[in-house]
Amino acid sequence: MNELKLAVLGSKGTGKSALTVRYLTQRFIGEYASDAESIYSKRLCLDGRQMHLEMYDPCSQPLKGKPPFGDELQWADGLVVVYDISDRSSFTYAKALMYRIRDPHLGTCKRDTESVVALVGNKQDLCHMREVGREEGQQMASDHNCQFYELSAAEHYQEVVAMFTAVIRSIITA
Ligand code: GDP
Repeated sequence: MNELKLAVLGSKGTGKSALTVRYLTQRFIGEYASDAESIYSKRLCLDGRQMHLEMYDPCSQPLKGKPPFGDELQWADGLVVVYDISDRSSFTYAKALMYRIRDPHLGTCKRDTESVVALVGNKQDLCHMREVGREEGQQMASDHNCQFYELSAAEHYQEVVAMFTAVIRSIITA
């Protein structure tokens, strides 16, 4: 069985836990304890391959200041960077994270980073409160050569599954 590790990063309140729990359990739960870090695991079968997936949801980082980067970047096979489309500051934070992730001197995932990072604009259901344009997200993803998704953990279960599945598939085929 293959082992696969994903870390879900981004500023506090962007929906990292919501996305992770939605993917793993199908359920959208309104509130989570975001002061605790969690590692979830799941067995899955993708394209006929059995896998053991571990997902790391770090305790939410503060909005201000330098994004703290630690061992999770070495630990993970893939990274999902999340921002909230209704919160400009979360996009700024995601941008800073992305620069750090792609910094050749810092080193990131265990493997070639080119195919294992996804940028996710969450809370698309709040598009009436949108502060970050879809094109801005697309541009950032293209600048950093990563996959891009805009979706809603609250309302788009199928898209959440499709996003994580695509990230996992990219890792497997990298
Ligand atoms: P985290 O700190 O990044 O782990 O964020 P949480 O998963 O704890 O979510 C923060 C808040 O945003 C909670 O109140 C969630 O219910 C809410 N939330 C998460 N995803 C969505 C979404 O797609 N749409 C809406 N409207 N709210 C969401």
